Amino acid sequence: MFIKLWGVRGSITAPLSNTEYRQKISRIIEHVLSSNHGKSASVDDIISSLPEKLRYVYGGNTTCATLTSDSGKTYILDCGSGLRAVGYDLMKGDCAKGKGEVNVFLTHNHWDHIQGLPFFTPLYIQGNKIHFYSPYPNQHELLRAQMSAPFFPAPFDGTASEKRFTTLEKGKNMPLKLEKDLEVDMHPLKHPNGCYAYRFRQKGKSFVFATDCEFTGESLELGGPEMDFFRDADLLVLDSQYTLDESFTKFDWGHTSFTMAVNCGVRWKVKNLVLTHHEPSYSDEKLNENYMEALEHSKYNDSDGMNIYMAREGMTFSL
Ligand SMILES: [Zn+2]
Ligand SMILES: [Zn+2]
Repeated sequence: MFIKLWGVRGSITAPLSNTEYRQKISRIIEHVLSSNHGKSASVDDIISSLPEKLRYVYGGNTTCATLTSDSGKTYILDCGSGLRAVGYDLMKGDCAKGKGEVNVFLTHNHWDHIQGLPFFTPLYIQGNKIHFYSPYPNQHELLRAQMSAPFFPAPFDGTASEKRFTTLEKGKNMPLKLEKDLEVDMHPLKHPNGCYAYRFRQKGKSFVFATDCEFTGESLELGGPEMDFFRDADLLVLDSQYTLDESFTKFDWGHTSFTMAVNCGVRWKVKNLVLTHHEPSYSDEKLNENYMEALEHSKYNDSDGMNIYMAREGMTFSL
């Protein structure tokens, strides 16, 4: 499985501001001026020598990830604004010819998880087949509502692609076999209006996508079915919107602190933990501080070699 993150911001898009851009570029210039690069150093060498926090931006697009299975099929996870770029990428292949087959899994229908769909170019190409999977029986109606007038000029059912909907139901068609050796299961999460996590398994490897969920010390202690669902994941992409302090002021808002996300990863014996759904008001600098604190926190939590990553747009993982 190959996983790519296209949108990692929570709640609403949060593009880099000019003030933040200037701060970042100032730090880059300061770093370069103090690091004695010879005149022969290439621009690529200089960029590679920068500390990681200066080499990237975390990105402002809302939740979207892709999983490419070992057979080469694409599965999209959530349709936040990051989906727009996924569409451009798919248009380099069969989707441009109207021969694309795209599978979309939706965790829930909050705007930040569906708002990219009206800007997904393959949706508008005749012949493309788009298969939506979700646990919500009224999924079609919800996507139709998002693109209804006067909120959007092109009605969902008027777009040229062929659409199919499968309602996922635990015990009925879940776990679902997607390919000979690829299976997906789901698990309900604590979040206003509900949300579901997905666990994909292929060739002994597992990837869990759990955005928009609120885990607390109490819920973690209860264990139960959560434990079985998340346990031993090779890769877990997990909501970690807030700092611990902020999570106390936003109890019941449906998101987890990065500190608690680390505790979850440790308890479930996850191998690679990716912190995502970043609070839109947090700057890159703040997210970087949070990342350092998360790493520090894991040192005191017997994390048993668990790798921790701060999600950023374009990040990839191979399992
Ligand atoms: Zn969200
Ligand atoms: Zn949500």
